Amino acid sequence: MLTGCYTYLSENDWKEKIFAFDSIARCCTLCPRECRIDRLNGEKGFCEAPSTMIISSIFAHHGEEPPVSGSKGSGTVFFSYCTLKCCFCQNYQISHEYEGVRYTEQELAEALLRLQNEGCHNINLVTATHFLPWVLKSLKIAAEKGLEIPIVYNCGGYERVEIIKLLDGVVDIYLPDMKYGTSQAAAQFSHAADYVECNRNAIREMFRQTGPLRINKEGLAKRGLCIRHLILPGNVQGSSSIVAFLKEHFDPEDITISLMAQYSPLYKAMETDSINRRITEDEYEVTKNEFSVAGFDGFFQEFEKMNENFIIDFKTRKSERLIEEE
Ligand code: SF4
Repeated sequence: MLTGCYTYLSENDWKEKIFAFDSIARCCTLCPRECRIDRLNGEKGFCEAPSTMIISSIFAHHGEEPPVSGSKGSGTVFFSYCTLKCCFCQNYQISHEYEGVRYTEQELAEALLRLQNEGCHNINLVTATHFLPWVLKSLKIAAEKGLEIPIVYNCGGYERVEIIKLLDGVVDIYLPDMKYGTSQAAAQFSHAADYVECNRNAIREMFRQTGPLRINKEGLAKRGLCIRHLILPGNVQGSSSIVAFLKEHFDPEDITISLMAQYSPLYKAMETDSINRRITEDEYEVTKNEFSVAGFDGFFQEFEKMNENFIIDFKTRKSERLIEEE
């Protein structure tokens, strides 16, 4: 079994991190929105997340990148609410409509241990940014009870460097999005004009912590960074900007790209002319070629195989949750 870096944290390390996260949540700056409201006492900011964890589903995910899902699945936790709220969100049922149920730190810890016992290769925290103070407490409880598989931090890439720094020693594999390469698109589709700058600073810190994606002889991810880029319709310029940034700051051999062509006009994208369609084969080829010519490799979805099967219906998935009701 692969061992997560957090198994080396001392009691004091955990306490310091948990104290720091609680302090940040009291005047919330967990994400770049910096709402500065008291999350621990139930005040709500842009994300509208409450003062207890709300989780949509917990299950062994077989649809992530091959080294993350492996043969037995990635133990995935989909947190409800979101700090970005993209108008085209493929998971809008949980990010915008808050599908999910309340979990205590103890309950999540037990769920994580069950995922490990079922053979999952890692714990995959999806969009956990706004619940990090509670997640850290759950991880500490679970680690004390024997959780040891690596932690994957799977996020939209809208992160503060200060927060990512606090995850040093906790997260083994970073799986962030690079959604936008232009502030205009970030402002229009996610009301986050500062996305590009925040995203790029966060990516550099993630790489500083973990380095390139390392895969063991069984083909499983042990540690490192894998960057996801969902190609958006009419956004070739944004994708080009991302390629240029990565090429300027990294050796392409050190960067693993997961290039996704599965965009489907869901939620409010249906009412937005510029993104109310699938991407074209031409848009896909142009972006794929840009990454390839620049020397980047990784997991490139095949355009022909794209269909709506990539979209998870969280209302259905909820019935498959692994948590046993008391
Ligand atoms: S996590 Fe939520 S409340 Fe905190 S800064 Fe971000 S959007 Fe605001």
